[in-house]
Amino acid sequence: MSSFYPTAPQLQIDLSAIAANYTYMKSLAAHGAEIAAVVKSDAYGLGLDLVVPALLDAGCNRVFVKDLREGLHVRKRLSSSAMIHVLSGFEPRDIDDYIGSRLDPVCRTLSQALASLDRLPQFLLAVDTGFSRFGLPLSELALLVHRTSRRPDLLVSHLACADARANETNALQRDRFAAACEILQPCKRSLAASAAIWLGPRFHFDVVRVGSALFGLNNAAIEPCPLQPVVRLTARIVDVRTVHRGESVGYAASFRASRQMCIGIIALGYVQGLPWSAGNAISAAIGSHIAPIVGRIAMEYTAIDLTELPRSICVPGTAVELLGPRMSVDAMATATGTIPQELLVRLGSGCRRQYACSPSATAGEPH
Ligand SMILES: *Cc1c(COP(=O)(O)O)cnc(C)c1O
Repeated sequence: MSSFYPTAPQLQIDLSAIAANYTYMKSLAAHGAEIAAVVKSDAYGLGLDLVVPALLDAGCNRVFVKDLREGLHVRKRLSSSAMIHVLSGFEPRDIDDYIGSRLDPVCRTLSQALASLDRLPQFLLAVDTGFSRFGLPLSELALLVHRTSRRPDLLVSHLACADARANETNALQRDRFAAACEILQPCKRSLAASAAIWLGPRFHFDVVRVGSALFGLNNAAIEPCPLQPVVRLTARIVDVRTVHRGESVGYAASFRASRQMCIGIIALGYVQGLPWSAGNAISAAIGSHIAPIVGRIAMEYTAIDLTELPRSICVPGTAVELLGPRMSVDAMATATGTIPQELLVRLGSGCRRQYACSPSATAGEPH
């Protein structure tokens, strides 16, 4: 087949919507708490190179990246003096990179803390308040205080259940965090990520670390969603065929036609991040028309039902929308049994990314 159109699926990323979401989260922060941007894993798959400058333009002055490699990458491209914090901890052998590129590791253990605090201008420390992943247990804080009079410039902890407002783990972790702050004061304090903004001002402390919400993901399930949608996913029809009554479509013959059908094959599969569990489960859209996915998702292709659509648009080259105003990342995640963050990072790294700026984006207005 000759192709006169680009067949790669496209993930359109609206940078102004990211900026608007940053501004909106800032408007929710209590008593002037600072909003830091979490841009780990290549900005949740959407690309550090353009996402970080858009956030800095929106007034962000502190970003958290996944590891040293991401930190060096961001610093190299920034003219700004924004703080770059590295979530993956401190390896003393990397000291020159941290100093040379003004990166601040978030220390996760007592030995990392002791190795970093004499040698780096910023001392950032994680405490474990119940997530049981990284950070000093509260029981080790006395050891730290005994060994040094220096106090952290930023004390960080992470909530396990912030997206479940009624979960009592939230209050428990908050109390433990407050106790840790008491031991290590004076220091800046950071407990909340995106969803914890909606747990109330008692959770905001000095710095809120916002990731998902910047990208329009509504983890806390606030209705109506106050965040701007950031991505639009489109794929192209590459083949159109007739399937007769009784014939099956795709692997495992998991869909069987109960009548004569018009089937479109789109160039998008699980290798580009469409979940395999989307098979027979969600719909695509062409303009105002709905085209259900039929059969299993294959590595690079997916079949959709075009039977009810005008013949004129059922042709190779037509763009089909999977994510957009009709279906949010949250909705697709729910329909396919995953979480929106996983969906976003997979699509972002699997699809061709295209950036747009819509000057009209304002978060906070229901849509
Ligand atoms: C990923 C992450 C965040 C951001 O979480 P969101 O829920 O995406 O806002 C904040 N802090 C830490 C330590 C993280 O790992």
